Amino acid sequence: MLRGLMQERPLLVSSLIEHAARCHPQAEIVSRTSEGPLHRCTYADICRRSRQVANALTALGVVPGERIATLAWNGYRHMELYYGVSGMGAVLHTINPRLFPEQIEYIVRHAEDQFLFFDLGFIPLVEKLAQAVPGVRGFVVMTDRAHLPVCDIPGLLCYEDLLGAASDAYDWPQFDEHTASSLCYTSGTTGNPKGVLYSHRSSVLHAWAACAVDGLAIGVAETLLLVVPMFHVNAWGMPYAGAMSGARLVMPGPALDGKSVYELLRDEQVTLALGVPTVWRMLLQHVDGAGLKPRDELCLRRVVIGGSSAPRAMTEAFANTFGAFVVHAWGMTEMSPVGTVCNLLPKHEDYTFEQRLDIQEKQGRAVYGVEMKIVDDQGERLPQDGQAAGHLLVRGPWITSGYYRDEGGGIVDADGFFDTGDVATIDLDGYLQITDRSKDVIKSGGEWISSIALENAAVAHPAVAEAAVIGAAHDKWQERPLLVVVRKPGEALTRETMLEFLQGRVANWWIPDDVAFVDELPHTATGKLHKLRLREMFKDYRLPSA
Ligand code: ADP
Repeated sequence: MLRGLMQERPLLVSSLIEHAARCHPQAEIVSRTSEGPLHRCTYADICRRSRQVANALTALGVVPGERIATLAWNGYRHMELYYGVSGMGAVLHTINPRLFPEQIEYIVRHAEDQFLFFDLGFIPLVEKLAQAVPGVRGFVVMTDRAHLPVCDIPGLLCYEDLLGAASDAYDWPQFDEHTASSLCYTSGTTGNPKGVLYSHRSSVLHAWAACAVDGLAIGVAETLLLVVPMFHVNAWGMPYAGAMSGARLVMPGPALDGKSVYELLRDEQVTLALGVPTVWRMLLQHVDGAGLKPRDELCLRRVVIGGSSAPRAMTEAFANTFGAFVVHAWGMTEMSPVGTVCNLLPKHEDYTFEQRLDIQEKQGRAVYGVEMKIVDDQGERLPQDGQAAGHLLVRGPWITSGYYRDEGGGIVDADGFFDTGDVATIDLDGYLQITDRSKDVIKSGGEWISSIALENAAVAHPAVAEAAVIGAAHDKWQERPLLVVVRKPGEALTRETMLEFLQGRVANWWIPDDVAFVDELPHTATGKLHKLRLREMFKDYRLPSA
């Protein structure tokens, strides 16, 4: 082999913010703060202050490799920590505040976090937590002296005081790009949460893929609204992709309700917004209820939807009401998260609107760096014909090779593929379609029924706010689908009307055996349907047909 003669510059997270400060110093970061007002700063400011973070941490005795936790919404200070903590060689551990307090306590202990940075809104949570995590050396509230609360947290430190005392001169250390940069725990709907440990290299490569035109096409002309939280898989990598591309970033802070999100979209002239279906449902309901005209007021061109399947009805609503194209994407915490992105091919240009919606229902094609295969129960590869549904396995440089501290043991097969736990089809053009989580598929008479397809068909009914489908026991068929529906306020939808609506929209033998109406569906900490809890809620339920 002949070795190449290119320079060996490591791919480090710090190089992203230094690039941003050099090449698009004035591009703006707009944040809705916990203190109230909107805050505006630039990539140059974030770079300068992240160097101060690195100096402040060094002064606190933090050494490379130690974990530094955050409990914080999306905002500029959180972004400074993204760069300051990882840049100095420590590991940023972003905690999802929506986890149960016992889970938060568990992961702080498991990660052996040394310091915890938190937003003002989380004081009650941290007051309780502080007693239970003696290993944490200090708690830093992310505000200034004027807003410093009176509270019961031992040795409380103030973020702006720490930065005020720190120099902004700092040479980022150069080290092996495989060094850990950040840590994010999966939400652990079964068992304890497990830690996914990203590296500098994986984070930079993933950001590149996100910026690519056939990825999420993040560029300097975009204004991004990060509705996806910075504690959920690094806000899908957007703080890194933003610095790489110079995209203007808008951070919503704690306010994720429809009205607040709409106001940011309008006032900050957002072009691309990213988030899970749950928040978009709230936005669409707000627009509907308030009779707004987003087409006239906004310049939103694209909405990236991932985390759960983007229902056709939602994609249609964004097209018709907002004039915005839904970019459906799929991924997971273990994948940094982006795996596939649903952009259209040239041949789709002649398609009708309905035909394009057919494509947009799929989760899209793998970005370079992600290899996918689908296999049957025996591990044999299935054809990529858009029909055969199998277990989805992936490998690539931003996909985990094992959980932190080896929880769960070996998780990749002999060829290095990781089992996503999803069931999917892949068509001839390479478009992936997720049909279910493997533990949620409904097994009816030896065949599989896709709960996701049924849910998406149900939410297309104008009276349905949200829908979930679970398998209910059946003597003859083993399992049959039960549809659980939340009606929109004031709607009087009946079981019969609902089932009639599904006729012709899904295969006949998929039509649920029954419909139950509830006021609310259970969700996980990342806003997904909590099927496990739903199955528990309906464990004594008997289908009329059973
Ligand atoms: P959690 O912590 O809730 O597991 P993740 O974001 O890691 O959060 O969840 C990943 C899972 O979410 C995937 O394995 C898949 O089941 C589901 N998912 C993500 N994106 C989509 C999508 N576009 N369509 C359907 N399911 C999705």
